[in-house]
Parts: sequence; structure tokens; C-alpha cells
Amino acid sequence: MNCLFCKIIAGEIPSTKVYEDDLILAFRDINPQAPTHILVIPKSHIPSVDGITAENSAVVAHIFETIPTIAAAEKLENGYRVVSNCGADAGQTVHHLHFHILGGKALSLEMA
Ligand code: 5GP
Ligand code: ZN
Repeated sequence: MNCLFCKIIAGEIPSTKVYEDDLILAFRDINPQAPTHILVIPKSHIPSVDGITAENSAVVAHIFETIPTIAAAEKLENGYRVVSNCGADAGQTVHHLHFHILGGKALSLEMA
């Protein structure tokens, strides 16, 4: 499949990993919008939030159960933002479900 994040999961494109298990991967965004900018993705290909169903949502729960561990490892004790862009109006550019973790500064009301 011609999917950038599936290629990162397969190791065909390098990334700076911060967390990995059987179901999910977290790595640093190549173009950070905040001092800490991490992307958390399922290893299964789900195109966006719109593709979440009762059949595949366990991995989404697992992502959210893991985000506090990642945030703690990144020392985001002052807080952080979790964002998922879905579709054209949100500016989604990579069509593999991902959650941005943004932190390390006081964030504006824009995404970062
Ligand atoms: P979106 O705009 O779809 O919500 O977010 C896609 C994110 O993926 C962007 O923040 C962009 O910087 C990041 N990104 C795009 N290509 C790569 C890449 O090859 N490696 C990494 N680490 N991040 C990428
Ligand atoms: Zn994919």
C-alpha cells in the first residue's frame, strides 16, 4: 500500500521512535509545530477518524491508554494537546489515522 505511515511502520522510511508495541507506534513529527510534537499511529491501516468502527476501535482505546505514558516520558507535566485532523477541511495530509501530541510550551488556540 502506498501509505507513508505504513512505510514508517515497516521500517522502509526512517523515523525517530519514542514508543512501540505490537499495536501502535509513536514517533517524532518531521516538522514539529511545538517543542514536543509526536505522532501516535495504529499499526493497522485506518484512513482517518472517519474510519473508526466498533470492529477496530480497540486500537484507538489502546492509543489513548498509552498517551499518558508517552506524555510522562516526554515530561509534559504542564499539559499537552491531542489532535487528529480528519479530511480536507481539517487539513489532513497523511491518510493513515494519527494523533498529534503537542506540548512543551503554552499552546495557542490554533493546532499548535
Ligand atoms: P496531518 O496534517 O495529516 O494531520 O499530519 C501529518 C503530519 O505528518 C504532519 O505534521 C507532518 O509534519 C508529518 N509528517 C509528514 N511526513 C512525515 C515523515 O516522513 N516523517 C515524520 N516523522 N513525520 C511526517
Ligand atoms: Zn497506512
